[in-house]
Amino acid sequence: MEIAQFCARANILVLLLALFCSPCKFIQSPMGLDPLNFHQNTNTASMDFGRIHFSSPSAILRPKSPADISLLLSFLSGSSFSEVTVAARGAGHSIYGQAQALDGIVIEMDAMPSNIEVHRKGEGEVDVSYVDVSGGALWIELLEESLKHGMAPRSWTDYLYLSIGGTLSIGGISGQAFKYGPQISNVLQLDVVTGKGEVVTCSPTKSSELFYSVLGGLGQFGIITSARILLQEAPEKVKWVRAFYDDIQTFTQDQELLISMPNLVDYVEGFIVLNDQSLNSFTTAFPAHLHFAPEFHSEGRSKVYYCIEYAVHDHSSKDIDTDQVVEEVSRQMRNLPSQLYTVEVSYYDFLNRVRMEEMSLRSAGLWEVPHPWLNMFVPKSGISEFIDLLFENISAEEFEGPVLIYPVLRDKWERNTSMVLPDAADDQVVYIVGMLRSTNQDSCPADCLQNLLQTNLRITGAASDAGAKQYIPHHSSPAGWFSHFGRHWNRFAGRKAQFDPIGILAPGQGIFSRRS
Ligand code: FAD
Repeated sequence: MEIAQFCARANILVLLLALFCSPCKFIQSPMGLDPLNFHQNTNTASMDFGRIHFSSPSAILRPKSPADISLLLSFLSGSSFSEVTVAARGAGHSIYGQAQALDGIVIEMDAMPSNIEVHRKGEGEVDVSYVDVSGGALWIELLEESLKHGMAPRSWTDYLYLSIGGTLSIGGISGQAFKYGPQISNVLQLDVVTGKGEVVTCSPTKSSELFYSVLGGLGQFGIITSARILLQEAPEKVKWVRAFYDDIQTFTQDQELLISMPNLVDYVEGFIVLNDQSLNSFTTAFPAHLHFAPEFHSEGRSKVYYCIEYAVHDHSSKDIDTDQVVEEVSRQMRNLPSQLYTVEVSYYDFLNRVRMEEMSLRSAGLWEVPHPWLNMFVPKSGISEFIDLLFENISAEEFEGPVLIYPVLRDKWERNTSMVLPDAADDQVVYIVGMLRSTNQDSCPADCLQNLLQTNLRITGAASDAGAKQYIPHHSSPAGWFSHFGRHWNRFAGRKAQFDPIGILAPGQGIFSRRS
């Protein structure tokens, strides 16, 4: 062992002794050195977007390089600090404490230098264009940098202030997924530090087991320090269309029609319009004047509506009349008469549309509040029953927040990754349903929040029995995880034994226990 490495290890040992053995848990390293930039201001690391779970770590590591992470993990995996766990924290936009580590160490990935290098394929070259980006960088940073080169990733999330490593650990889905698959289907290579502290570059052809384990792996197998992501030519503008419906069958049939036209359509999503508030919140970023006057309450019962949104990319370099494309596609749709709206926005504004919702919610004091969210993958054959189940369990008038619903195609998912879809293999179409509820602490105090969480449990229980799976899963018992992974459990547990055998990583997911 080199002298520098020995000294760094000795420093970690003293730091960990100070952190985990001293009653006052003060931190002081030998000779005043803190080579790994540990600190104990743990406030942000004990919180996330969900504001439901709050577990304080004992320390924070702000790494400057993958070597810092490797040093810590190789030390812990070979030491007698049997209780210490480690969680990477990207943007902290988990809901149920997934990036927290009770009494452990949280690694703040935003401390790593944000490196974004675009490699644009030259004229006539057979290779692809791609970007190398740090695991702690945000998707918005990647968008801004890649657009400078006229390029952009193919698959997105709706909200861009999430980290690369954080979404690649869960899947990463938006309205492009029907065409290009989730974000984890658009990765060429990863740099990972495993739970044993090994630094590995992996891809479909090199250390492929680690590559597929980490993608959708809920942070269980290693920490992503860099990702190589496919790029395509970015359009300058987007034609963005919204169409309203008053029955679920026509709505879902039209969504399925749209995803059968990948040569024309670039994005398909949709949402349920439950009440006035949900209609208003969805119009913040969509610059059209709606002459849509829904009657949410008619004939003594409440009524809901559905809205499809689709988009067509507009490239100045391509000789395609996108107005004509929109006309041709829209002509085949069966929305409510005259309830179809088209706007043109820049590609950047389109991708960053949720930022406007965020700003509006922030100004209303409705962003930094508890979010009892629930996301499910529902096979096409069960989607009507699932929507019935939702309406049995929520009150449409009182629900605050969007309910997203849109189809994706199973064969766009790489089967080797750690993420699981519902088993109903004969359903090529799978719906993602996101109940993205906000609670206002004044109108929904702690016991009300507990009731909403119980409601979520009822919905997930009944839906899972009918073959649905949670997306960004949260289970509080080993049995729940066992059933979530189903026939994939042995593969998942085997990967854990291989890459993080003593269970150091991502304790906040609650899947495995730390072993000594
Ligand atoms: P964190 O919350 O910091 O971490 C999540 C998990 O990943 C933890 O287990 C953590 O330990 C692990 N992790 C973090 N970084 C790394 C790393 N570098 N290497 C290994 N493991 C790591 N999801 C979608 O798919 N589509 C959407 O449209 C979408 N929209 C969202 C909008 C909002 C407002 C919010 C709050 C969430 C949304 N999500 C969406 C969910 C989001 O993608 C996940 O919660 C994601 O994990 C958050 O990324 P993060 O960087 O905040 O991760």
